[in-house]
Amino acid sequence: MPQDPLIASVFRQEVMAMSSYHVADATGLIKLDAMENPYEWPDDIKQNWLDALRDCQLNRYPDPEARQLKQTIRQSNHIAEEWGILLGNGSDEIIQLLLMALPTGASVLSPAPGFVMYKQLSDCLGLHYIGVPLLADSFDLDLPAMLAAIEKHQPSVIFIAYPNNPTGNLFSETAIKDIISAAKGLVIIDEAYAPFADASFIDYLGQYPNLMLMRTVSKLGLAGLRLGYLVGGTGIIEQLNKIRLPYNINILTQVSANFALNNGALFDQQTQAICAGRTIMLEQLNALNGIIAYPSRANFILFKTPENRANDIFAAIKQQGVLIKNMNSQGGLLVDCLRVTVGKPDENARFLTALQKALER
Ligand SMILES: *Cc1c(COP(=O)(O)O)cnc(C)c1O
Repeated sequence: MPQDPLIASVFRQEVMAMSSYHVADATGLIKLDAMENPYEWPDDIKQNWLDALRDCQLNRYPDPEARQLKQTIRQSNHIAEEWGILLGNGSDEIIQLLLMALPTGASVLSPAPGFVMYKQLSDCLGLHYIGVPLLADSFDLDLPAMLAAIEKHQPSVIFIAYPNNPTGNLFSETAIKDIISAAKGLVIIDEAYAPFADASFIDYLGQYPNLMLMRTVSKLGLAGLRLGYLVGGTGIIEQLNKIRLPYNINILTQVSANFALNNGALFDQQTQAICAGRTIMLEQLNALNGIIAYPSRANFILFKTPENRANDIFAAIKQQGVLIKNMNSQGGLLVDCLRVTVGKPDENARFLTALQKALER
C-alpha cells in the first residue's frame, strides 16, 4: 500500500495498519445486527422521561462524578458500598481506559472468537494482544491453553465475556475461576449480556482482588445513551479515574439512565419477551435443513449455514429487508457463521422466512 509521507511521518505504524470499525447502514431494513432491544417505551413513561429532561441545564457541565447515577446503578445492580464504580461512555470506553493505563508493550489476552474491541483497542494502543481459541465443539474455554498462554505472556489484563459475544454461551464457571486464580493481572468479566443470562460473577468480587466486572446498559435497551460501568476494588478504580476525561458521561445520559434504571420493571418485561423469543427462534432455526444454531444465554443467536454459503445467504436475507451480522469473514470457528439479534416476534418471523427462502436458492 503506497503511503502518504505526511501521514506516515505523523502516525504510529499500528494505527495505519488498522481498519476502522465498520457499522452497516440499516436504513429501511429490519435491524437484527447489533443486539439492540427492539422495544420502545409506553407513552406515559416517555412523558415522565421528557419531564425529567426538562430540568437539565445544558449550559452547565455535568456532574463529573455522576453521583446520582452511580447510586442508582449501585441499587439496581446490588453493588455493595465497598466496591468502586467507574462509568464510561459505553463499556467500549472502559476497555480503552483500562488499556491506556497499561505499560508499553503489555499483553492483553482474551478467548477467541470474542468481542472485537478487545483486540481493536489493544492494537491501536500498541499493546500485545493474544487471542486463545475456544474449543471447537462447545465454544467453551480451552482451559489448558488459557493457562499456558497466561504463564507464557503474563497478561496485564484478561477479558472474558460472560456470556460470550459472538458465540452466545456462558463459559464454564470453574474454568473462569481457575483463570482468575492463575492470572497475576486483572481479569475483567464482561457481563454486557447480564440482563439475558441469569448468571454473574458479582458474588465472587470479594474472593479475588484481581477480578472486576464490566456491564453496560446498551443491550438492556439504552444503546443510544452510551453508558457502561466497571466494578471492582477502589484502589484500581482510583487509578483508572485519573485517566478518565472529567465529563465523559454527558448530562442527558446521566439524567436519562438514572430515570430508566428507576423504571427497571419495564426492562424486566422487555427482557423476558426477548428471552421467550430466543427460545422460539433457536427451535425454528434448528428445524431448518442445513442450519445449526447454537444455544445462547444472550439476546442473539449464532448459527452455521451450509458450507461456503454464508455470504450468499447473508446477502439474500438483506435483499429481503432484514439486516443481520455476517461473521464468516472473521474466519476460524466463525467460518460459515451468521449472527442474528432476537427482535420482536414479527421481526423474528420476517427473518426466518427470509432465511428459509435464501436456503432454497
Ligand atoms: C456490545 C458489547 C460491549 C459494548 O458495549 P457498549 O457499552 O455499547 O460499548 C461490550 N462487551 C461485549 C461482550 C459486547 O457484546
